[in-house]
Amino acid sequence: MTARVLVVDDLPPNVKLLEARLNAEYFEVLTATNGPDALAICARGVCDIVLLDVMMPGMDGFEVCRRLKANPETAHLPVVMVTALDQPRDRVRGLEAGADDFLTKPIDEVALLSRVRSLARMKMSLDELRGRYNTAASLGGPNAIASPMADSGEQGRILLVDNRSSSVERITSALRGRHKLEIEGAPQQAIFRAAEEDYELFIVSLALNDFDGLRVASQLRSLERTRQTPILLLADLEDRASVLRGLELGVNDYLARPIDPNELIARVRTQVRRKRYTDALRSTLQASIELALVDMLTGLYNRRYLELNLARLLDAGAQSARPVSLMVLDIDHFKRVNDTWGHDAGDDVLRAFANRVKIAVRDRDLVCRLGGEEFIVAMPDTDLATAAAIAERVRGTIEAEPFAIDKGARYIPVTVSVGLAQSMGEIDPAGLFRRADKALYRSKSEGRNRVTYDAA
Ligand code: GH3
Ligand code: MG
Ligand code: MG
Repeated sequence: MTARVLVVDDLPPNVKLLEARLNAEYFEVLTATNGPDALAICARGVCDIVLLDVMMPGMDGFEVCRRLKANPETAHLPVVMVTALDQPRDRVRGLEAGADDFLTKPIDEVALLSRVRSLARMKMSLDELRGRYNTAASLGGPNAIASPMADSGEQGRILLVDNRSSSVERITSALRGRHKLEIEGAPQQAIFRAAEEDYELFIVSLALNDFDGLRVASQLRSLERTRQTPILLLADLEDRASVLRGLELGVNDYLARPIDPNELIARVRTQVRRKRYTDALRSTLQASIELALVDMLTGLYNRRYLELNLARLLDAGAQSARPVSLMVLDIDHFKRVNDTWGHDAGDDVLRAFANRVKIAVRDRDLVCRLGGEEFIVAMPDTDLATAAAIAERVRGTIEAEPFAIDKGARYIPVTVSVGLAQSMGEIDPAGLFRRADKALYRSKSEGRNRVTYDAA
């Protein structure tokens, strides 16, 4: 994995040292020796991770971090504070400024590389998500991208997996009132609970009696429901090797005992915030995909969806030498419905029409509203004779019962004309569509309320 790391330190020898270590592991390195330069580089979007010295003349690291996190364009960049003072107070100050992690000088090589790797992984999946989000936004979805700092990161739903009472006591008192903390002492039970509920963070102790905490972490990573949920490990000083393995397994963060309550509070807040940010991106993404591909009036797929999928259906049909049939439907004299009963009545008819068609065809047939009162049914693995039978069923179900308008105050008759064509091993949808449309035209000109198929 390669990532672009920005090293910020006012002392050139410190910069050189980090640069050499990161280069040796094939990371790309950018450097800056003061806060304003660092901010400018980040604003250009050319780095993935920032290693930030705390003590610098002029603008210090805390201020740089605060500014990065206040800017929606850079707020998602992971920031690691590099501090000479191994003081819990400094750590907490940094976390409050929005820092994602800490390294203490002199920098331990293993800690450096494992943190950078884990943050690079996180940044990459975030970039992927943000990229898809921007694509969806450009298709007409919402375009206000949320900031990870927009949420307070409080009242998180957290499961603590720990069975040492002194440790449970300490964590409970630190998080009381700030989060909704649940405690589970039995590791297997914790996995069951995690699979059933929506937690926003797991805190897992490595010091479980008779059980390997890493096994819990790895099971949480493999469950569908918890794959994306952050995990924070609680480790003793001698658990170093396990912490490193945990980070490789996809654990997001860790805390070393004795646990400083303020540091715990700050790290928990960072993880809960990040979880809510990615959840928000994911659900907006889902909603905007639906917005872009589903017709709002009828709930059927729209023309764009059809265009995206018809070529694929035809290709699959050609590959397997199976026919694909296309049905084009157009409601008869629909303009009269609007003119006589009003546009709302027309909308009622369109909705009910869509429902009847959907019920009359098979589950695997793709039903779309092309626009106005025109619809398409694409039928994979279907020859013309079968398609004609299905089309006749659709036509019949529309004619059979009048349609309710004005909330059922009145019922009006509706009929539909249908054109059919079958693919002939072609993979271009345009030709198939043209033949079905020609058949539809004949249905119209020969009196409407009928099915015609392309005899080519
Ligand atoms: P034909 O039998 O030849 O198809 O006649 P038609 O009246 O159905 O065809 P035409 O294309 O002339 O009219 C279609 C009408 O559909 C005109 C348009 O106002 C109406 N329409 C299109 N979209 C909507 C919609 O979303 N809601 C409503 N209520 N009407 C719509
Ligand atoms: Mg019509
Ligand atoms: Mg029409």
